[in-house]
Amino acid sequence: MKKKNILELSSLFKTTIYGLQMGYAETHSSNSLVIKPSSIEECREIINYCNREDIKICFRGGGFSYGDMILNTNELILDMSSMNNILVWDSDSGQISVEPGVSFASIFKTSLLDNWTLTSCPGGMDVTIGGAISNNVHGKDAWKNGNFGQQVTSIELLLSNSDVLIIEKNDPIFKAVIGGMGMFGLVVKINIQLKKIPSPYVRVRTELTNNITESIDLLELRKEDSDFSVAWVDAFIKGDSIGRGYVSSASWVYEDLKTTELELEKSLTKSKYIFGFLPSKPVWCVGRLFFKPAVLKLLNKLHYFLAKVSFAKSNAFSSPVLFTDYNFMHNKIPDIKEVYRPFGFYEFEPLLPRVEGKETLKDLIKLCQKHKCESLLCGVKAHKSDDFLISFEGDGYSIGVDIQIAGREKVKVKKFVKELSEFIISNQGKIYLAKDENISKISFQKMYPNYKDFLILKKSLDPNHRFSSDMYKRLMT
Ligand SMILES: Cc1cc2nc3c(=O)[nH]c(=O)nc-3n(C[C@H](O)[C@H](O)[C@H](O)COP(=O)(O)OP(=O)(O)OC[C@H]3O[C@@H](n4cnc5c(N)ncnc54)[C@H](O)[C@@H]3O)c2cc1C
Repeated sequence: MKKKNILELSSLFKTTIYGLQMGYAETHSSNSLVIKPSSIEECREIINYCNREDIKICFRGGGFSYGDMILNTNELILDMSSMNNILVWDSDSGQISVEPGVSFASIFKTSLLDNWTLTSCPGGMDVTIGGAISNNVHGKDAWKNGNFGQQVTSIELLLSNSDVLIIEKNDPIFKAVIGGMGMFGLVVKINIQLKKIPSPYVRVRTELTNNITESIDLLELRKEDSDFSVAWVDAFIKGDSIGRGYVSSASWVYEDLKTTELELEKSLTKSKYIFGFLPSKPVWCVGRLFFKPAVLKLLNKLHYFLAKVSFAKSNAFSSPVLFTDYNFMHNKIPDIKEVYRPFGFYEFEPLLPRVEGKETLKDLIKLCQKHKCESLLCGVKAHKSDDFLISFEGDGYSIGVDIQIAGREKVKVKKFVKELSEFIISNQGKIYLAKDENISKISFQKMYPNYKDFLILKKSLDPNHRFSSDMYKRLMT
């Protein structure tokens, strides 16, 4: 972007900042101009200006995507977090209408008081609804409720020609905008049908497993009698115990229990302390010095051992836990990414089909071990299929692998990414784009064969590629 444009835009819009921007994983940064609009009119003015001056626009919600899908080197980022109003809330029907910058936390603060919930909630409570739509995010209920788009009833989309398009569920454009990574237009208003729940509380059951086969069997079994499930896997252990860990499942509590505004506020306020008492910054700064594979291996052992001691009575259910405390458990270990600084981390989240699932997951863990790319915490979730154009879906299992960059040679990481991509493709799997910044264009095309239809629609709705991102340039141009 030219200096003249930066100066003009800065004088036209109050909330404009020029500087280095990063994805959540903080692996690299690039300069962009960031504008935080507060109304649709302002968004329209910015788009018109960019049309005249040929500036590319990338949208950003909460900035919780890990890599380059929220970067737009030397161009413009439109940060939607200030358009964060709940426009309509009907506690009788559970219908809610929101601006795109509204977070999961703010919807829960309202809806859980009346026993209504969003489904498909990611682990980050400040993720925005615009961001959730554009990655079609998933939660621990993915195998039951699918991905986020299932509950959305209609969307208002501001196009690059300034028109606002209202799109409903059965519209092919709807199927593309959900999971569309902001490439078709700016989502400016969303209508959602929330799900009625018996109470805002869940009971959690934690069951130990001796290996990945048992974990997968248990994930399957819990589909029959629970609403949420996730398996935690020790990525370091080898041999017969490979992938040992525990499965945490949860079910809504069918009792007349009510929450309060105060309890929700507490649950949805970010803690500064790890487990409520350890000051996070100093702990992570010291932790960084010990963040080495040998220590991580030990921590995984310790984690398993502690789980064994605390959950000795397998099958035992917890007392009722507020859903937001269960779902946003990351909140209990705040600022964990401090430990990866200053070089950040890569997360790879592959989804592999259920057929042969146990064996492929075992092989994948072995592949990580071969490259010394085992994850500190490794979560496995079950998923189901949907019909959105580009979507992290399918009847199978996803597994999260995150590796710190510090202490690793670039060539070795590249080799791992190449082998991992080949492994995933040969097993008909895919990598979650919200967390990716590594796969090649060819790998992307193999993992997401609908990309051709995606690009045809992109051409018709945004012929001048006004909406873009570093990821779009990497994978689709
Ligand atoms: C701690 C943590 C836990 C997570 N857990 C999960 C999980 O369990 N499941 C899961 O699926 N994901 C998970 N994620 C990833 C996260 O949910 C997604 O990356 C999500 O899309 C981030 O939303 P955001 O509001 O931060 O949007 P951003 O990351 O800022 O943007 C995401 C995408 O949406 C586009 N976009 C944003 N706003 C708009 C708009 N108004 N109109 C059009 N496009 C827009 C952006 O251009 C970008 O392509 C997690 C992330 C973190 C940090």
